[in-house]
Amino acid sequence: MGQGQPVDVGRVTAALGGRSVVLIGMMGAGKTSVGKRLAAKLALPFGDADAEIEAGAQLTISEIFERFGEAYFRDGERKVIARLLNGGPLVLATGGGAFMNPVTRDNIAARGVSIWLKPDFDILLARVRKKSNRPLLKTADPEQTLRRLLEERSPTYALADFTIESLDGSHDSVVEAILRRLAACNDDVPPFPRARRRVEVPLGARAYSILIGPGLIDQAGVEIAKIAPRVNCAVVTDARVAPLYLERLTESLHQAGLRSTSIICPPGEATKRYAEFARVSDALIEARIERRDVVIALGGGVIGDLAGFCAATLRRGVRLVQIPTTLLAQVDSSVGGKTGINSRHGKNLVGAFHQPSLVLADTTALDTLSERDFRAGYAEVVKYGLIGDRRFFEFLESNWREIFAGGPARAEAIAISCAAKARIVAADETEQGERALLNLGHTFGHAFESLTHYDSPRLAHGEGVAIGMASAFRFSRDLGLCSGQDTTRVEAHLKALGLPTRMGDIPGFEASADDILAAMRQDKKVERGRLTFILVRGIGESFVARDLDEASVSTFLARELAA
Ligand code: NAD
Repeated sequence: MGQGQPVDVGRVTAALGGRSVVLIGMMGAGKTSVGKRLAAKLALPFGDADAEIEAGAQLTISEIFERFGEAYFRDGERKVIARLLNGGPLVLATGGGAFMNPVTRDNIAARGVSIWLKPDFDILLARVRKKSNRPLLKTADPEQTLRRLLEERSPTYALADFTIESLDGSHDSVVEAILRRLAACNDDVPPFPRARRRVEVPLGARAYSILIGPGLIDQAGVEIAKIAPRVNCAVVTDARVAPLYLERLTESLHQAGLRSTSIICPPGEATKRYAEFARVSDALIEARIERRDVVIALGGGVIGDLAGFCAATLRRGVRLVQIPTTLLAQVDSSVGGKTGINSRHGKNLVGAFHQPSLVLADTTALDTLSERDFRAGYAEVVKYGLIGDRRFFEFLESNWREIFAGGPARAEAIAISCAAKARIVAADETEQGERALLNLGHTFGHAFESLTHYDSPRLAHGEGVAIGMASAFRFSRDLGLCSGQDTTRVEAHLKALGLPTRMGDIPGFEASADDILAAMRQDKKVERGRLTFILVRGIGESFVARDLDEASVSTFLARELAA
């Protein structure tokens, strides 16, 4: 498209695909003037976050700063931007500091295309000098302050999807440049990083979507209202997750017109017990959660399993929305409908299949997880490669550092894992056959967990699975089923990122082969006393082995204990 030709607005609208255009950048960059013109061209509403805040507070921004301070203003700004973005596509001008807030950035990434307006510094200075009401520039040397702010903020502004630089800063030429940039996007070159992914779980009448991406906790209200408008929600969470995410979730529900109550449980595996099941169920009844209402599980696998079981049994079944906040829960426990609690006889022995109506995996919620919990969840990600997707395992070998650091590979790995689980669950919802493959490493892992009394500081579930998967490969190798090369490769990957691979890695682990066999027999995967193992012919080639000779298991365990 030549410079002289008019821009095809239809192409721009198609490239936007229902997203908002969000203008970011310094004060004086022209966001409001450019935004109004751009909105008129695109026939979209225009929103100005600062003007909305001033109208809502009946105070100028300077007055809000003076009376309540900057932190108060920033909090309000975050909420206003979330509300405006939730209201459907628009052109939105944001205040100069708005994009510094990671929650706002995630929100913008989920709903819009961000554009950094970057005029020449002299133009900025001339414009801000004209207006004397900028609270951050009420200093002895405004030019120096503006320069410092620009330097501080530029690396963050540079995270925007596009940057539009302009020498003369004429608003019309900036609008033109934005339209040309957006129109130049085509199907081969994604217009902007696909921030949000969707995986469908095709289960007929019980089908549901898994949404994966940054900022989904703030979008939860809108997403839940789409499938369950005007319902009452009860959020079940734990005391570690509540201070981090409960307020944001509640606010998002309220903005979408959904009433909510919350029930907070102690963190940790011990919460999956009868007493807590009874307490949460009673609290749900007291909160008048009825058949059409929604229970929301906000937390890791413990909360998902407990809240899910409560939802499955309350009034013979109410809707469940999973908002998993650990990696393990995002890739495994929130998908597939297994819910339950532990008995003193073993883990997950009391439970029900109850599919969620929606899963919202907010990838940035994982940023607050401890490294150990993240690693433990990663074991389940590796599992999907090992059971049926060698190429995914190779992707993980190359990209695990970025997955841990929170780059785009993280959402990719979560989406591939969820798609693998969705495929298996759709083929075998109640674990009559293929679904058992998901238990790779679990017969061993659950036995180790049981023998360490589910003491997760000693052995987290995912760590047990990591040792279990490495054991399943060694066992398969010893039975002549799988190459030593693949076994070594799996061990090397798990070790590289700090996961344990042997029983000897469990602090203070003392058990005989018979103890381990006895613990394995307690596992609920035991059928009429026969142990079921998932074995492998190589990476990505797993199968269910039901008729294994116990003596061969015992010999293998003895060898492992001696190693
Ligand atoms: P968890 O729920 O205990 O979470 C681990 C810890 O992380 C907890 O202390 C929790 O408070 C904290 N936490 C959670 N989200 C956080 C966040 N975003 N930031 C900071 N801290 C956070 O454990 P888990 O590993 O998520 O789940 C393990 C449970 O899942 C086990 O009970 C296991 O049996 C179950 N599980 C169920 C299924 C299934 O299909 N239903 C599958 C696999 C595992």
